[in-house]
Amino acid sequence: MPSQAPGARIGNYNEIKTGYTAELAVAEALRCMNCPGRYCARNCPIHNPVPQINERIREKDFDGAWELLASNSPLPEVCSRVCDQSRQCESECSRGIKHEAVSIGGLERFLADGYAGKNAGIEVAPPTGKKVAIVGAGPAGISAAWDLMRKGHSVTVFEKQEEPGGLMMYGIPNMKLDKGLLLKRFELMRTLGVKFICGAEVSKDIPAADPLKDFDAVLLAIGTAEARKLNVSGSGATGVVQAVEYLKAGTRNALEKGYELDPALDAAGKNVIIIGAGDTGTDCAATAIRQGAASIHQFEIAPKPEALPGAEKLPWKDWPRVFKTEYGQEEVIAKYGEDPRIYGIRTEEILSDGSGKVKEIKTVLADGGKKTWKADLVITAMGFTGPDTRILTDLGVKTDGRGNVVAGEEDYGTGVDKVFACGDARRGQSLVIRGVAEGKEAAASIDRYLNP
Ligand SMILES: Cc1cc2nc3c(=O)[nH]c(=O)nc-3n(C[C@H](O)[C@H](O)[C@H](O)COP(=O)(O)OP(=O)(O)OC[C@H]3O[C@@H](n4cnc5c(N)ncnc54)[C@H](O)[C@@H]3O)c2cc1C
Ligand code: SF4
Repeated sequence: MPSQAPGARIGNYNEIKTGYTAELAVAEALRCMNCPGRYCARNCPIHNPVPQINERIREKDFDGAWELLASNSPLPEVCSRVCDQSRQCESECSRGIKHEAVSIGGLERFLADGYAGKNAGIEVAPPTGKKVAIVGAGPAGISAAWDLMRKGHSVTVFEKQEEPGGLMMYGIPNMKLDKGLLLKRFELMRTLGVKFICGAEVSKDIPAADPLKDFDAVLLAIGTAEARKLNVSGSGATGVVQAVEYLKAGTRNALEKGYELDPALDAAGKNVIIIGAGDTGTDCAATAIRQGAASIHQFEIAPKPEALPGAEKLPWKDWPRVFKTEYGQEEVIAKYGEDPRIYGIRTEEILSDGSGKVKEIKTVLADGGKKTWKADLVITAMGFTGPDTRILTDLGVKTDGRGNVVAGEEDYGTGVDKVFACGDARRGQSLVIRGVAEGKEAAASIDRYLNP
């Protein structure tokens, strides 16, 4: 798929990949062999009917292809961009045995872009008179809202942020996912009857008892807001910030006219240290380079992963074991000449200047050697520890030993009457597509509960 080269794209916040034309899409779909085993579809967490979709693209029946995709996936414009298809549907593609796998994500994106925001191929059942409240508008909550709306239920989504989208809006940068596409999706949902109440945190701005009282079912899709903390001396210094806080401000600054970036969250001219070499750390590196950082390093406490044979078949939890150069590292290499990641390094202490601003980081390397680094901005990207507990306590919903909401594998029920839960809040920090899959399954369970 055509895309911007690393050296050029660091000058803008536009998407890296620019998408297929109709000619390219048809040519790519022609590579699909329509395998009877449907290996691709089986390995898609929401089982998109990939061979049938590709067949229609091949025949230039784009409306028919879109109908098939849109009737199954609530967020194809998102999944086609942020899923790592090489480790899911495309890893099982028969074409990939001898050649490159069919670009299933690329074809999905081609369709989703053509029909973005349009009410085409989407059937909605007549009103049931039942009301569902969804708390949290990330991929899990949005997917559940979409499917419940299509089943004819009246859906209200409560979201504490200014806009819906969860980490799709305020975590994943615009370079990976154009926020305009999200806005089109939410506008379409509004047109189809979904009500969004944003800037409203349930259990703070709205008592948790209200949705329980006013709705027939309540779905908690609140994500894992609690970031893992850096527990070393000096970590309270000014200029030590959490990744999602940093990314959210960066995205708003890049896209919203008149949005003023807090200087403490601006990497311009600074020596930036990112603690964590996972995907979130990569997004921070890509944002810092665009803001004009003087230098960028990513510290990872784990040893350098190997290049494992058959790595693409490993389950998601094992992906960090595989060494991969992602878009943010490609960009840092293009600008500064070296990979920003340093493995087997532990942060010992953060030192500040007389005014309380971070100035250095002391570290211990894998061989026991010590090194002090200049640092003007330290971004912690070390994952999350669990959902915000306030609403859970108010509703009497239980959590497990890892802090995640306890809710059934199949019915998504929490054990509290009419309260369900799904997404990262239930399964722990995960992926967009897992949130989408759980949102869909939770919606089906709520529908059964409302129509026994
Ligand atoms: C920086 C970053 C980059 C990522 N990149 C990718 C990627 O490229 N591909 C991928 O597959 N996954 C990625 N992920 C992971 C993915 O974003 C998450 O797994 C997914 O968003 C989880 O979906 P969710 O709906 O469960 O939760 P969230 O997206 O976290 O949404 C939960 C929502 O609930 C709201 N909320 C919480 N409590 C309340 C309350 N009491 N009242 C009202 N609203 C509330 C929150 O404000 C939030 O909007 C990334 C994560 C991060 C942090
Ligand atoms: S496995 Fe690959 S070639 Fe076979 S149907 Fe799926 S996309 Fe087409």
